Amino acid sequence: MCINSCHTYTGPFKDLESCCYCHEPHYDQDQLQRDGSKVLCQQFSTILLGPQLAAIRCSAEGAEEQKYCDSKLKEIYEMMDKVSEDGEEMVYDDIWCGADLLSLVEEIGMTENNELDSCPSLVISASLDGAQLYQNKKSDCWIGIWINQDYAPDTRFKKKKIFPNLTIPGPNKPKHIDSFLFTGLHHLAALQNEGNGQGQLIWDASANEVVHQCIIFLLALADALGMVKQ
Ligand SMILES: [Zn+2]
Repeated sequence: MCINSCHTYTGPFKDLESCCYCHEPHYDQDQLQRDGSKVLCQQFSTILLGPQLAAIRCSAEGAEEQKYCDSKLKEIYEMMDKVSEDGEEMVYDDIWCGADLLSLVEEIGMTENNELDSCPSLVISASLDGAQLYQNKKSDCWIGIWINQDYAPDTRFKKKKIFPNLTIPGPNKPKHIDSFLFTGLHHLAALQNEGNGQGQLIWDASANEVVHQCIIFLLALADALGMVKQ
């Protein structure tokens, strides 16, 4: 990445020799002149989602915990029947109760999959925010996370249940955040396309077999300032 954290060298930037914003070089110029080797001036970290998801589903407890969405959708459909038959009030207590998400569920056949007990699906969202790491020192570190929407709402935002995605070191705010998100999203696309689009091949401890886990990317989130930057 650029030493001033403007953008990283992914996608359309991958072959550039210097930053398009501040023109700082991509590679260490001393090293390049000394022996021609291309040593990066600065790097950011992406923590791959696939191994994290595979590790969770390896334990029966972890696999069971990720079945919230199935049971919630069943509950919502039962509630909707009661609303239309008995005139009861619809209770909106989770993101899955929204009309947009319910039509998405229909569109991609999430409920059909569950009924047939075929490949399990996993719904995730991404979020990103800046963090000042020192009280009295200016710092601008950006942290990206994955949120597993298949955990119950009272646990899905707990620190232990959040998957790290990326960290962008300072010193400045990123000028092109998409270039930093590229690596994690590229990896996610690879997981989705595994097995001719069936999804990531993993061990499911609750089913006691190897399954294809279909990963659905639901929301890209950030705070208002982060959204403006994106
Ligand atoms: Zn730059």
